[in-house]
Amino acid sequence: YTEPGDQYLICALQVVRIIECKPMIVQFGSARIELVLGDITTQRVDAIVNAANAMLAGGGGVDGAIHNAAGPEIMAELKRRYPDGCPTGSAVETTAGNLNAKYIFHAVGPIWRGGGNQERELLQSAYQTCLSLGEKLQCRSLAFPSISTGVYGYPVDLAADVALKTVATRLESTNQLEVVKFVLFDQGTFGGYARVLETMLV
Ligand code: ADP
Repeated sequence: YTEPGDQYLICALQVVRIIECKPMIVQFGSARIELVLGDITTQRVDAIVNAANAMLAGGGGVDGAIHNAAGPEIMAELKRRYPDGCPTGSAVETTAGNLNAKYIFHAVGPIWRGGGNQERELLQSAYQTCLSLGEKLQCRSLAFPSISTGVYGYPVDLAADVALKTVATRLESTNQLEVVKFVLFDQGTFGGYARVLETMLV
């Protein structure tokens, strides 16, 4: 039972939480989604997701940070196992080198070209492939960056909507995964994800 005043207080507390980027944890089925502000390379999870490019060639942003932290054997493994790269909307797995993880899932999100070029379907498919890899490899915890919202230009609010709804839907129907973290690198991105997650609570 809540009074109208309580609602206002809850709303004000949520706004403060978003502004301060305090971690946000929401249960879906038997698993939970966590939003945290931070660097994905320091996470301790079964699989860390990379926002890669279709050539799997490495680059800047989170891709560069993950390869730097994991070590050069990851690029060698990619070249050996996936010489043809990875199509947009899919993902491939490697070992995790020096990271505190068992696997890296190299996911290829779409480049934003205005929204009329299957961007939503391709981004959803990239997340779904990672979730399927996680289940196949018996992972209990995954960490995602905000795929496609850096140099690929996907608007954060739209990408957050796809990412969170795709993951939440899967968590309602699987017992394999226990936690999916979104590790967001800046306050604007964190706020975008937090606002979408708020709307999924009611
Ligand atoms: P894309 O090419 O898919 O857009 P980017 O690496 O350019 O990938 O950006 C994706 C998101 O990852 C951006 O929000 C960017 O700020 C963020 N990012 C960059 N470095 C890190 C990191 N070390 N940990 C988590 N997120 C990161």
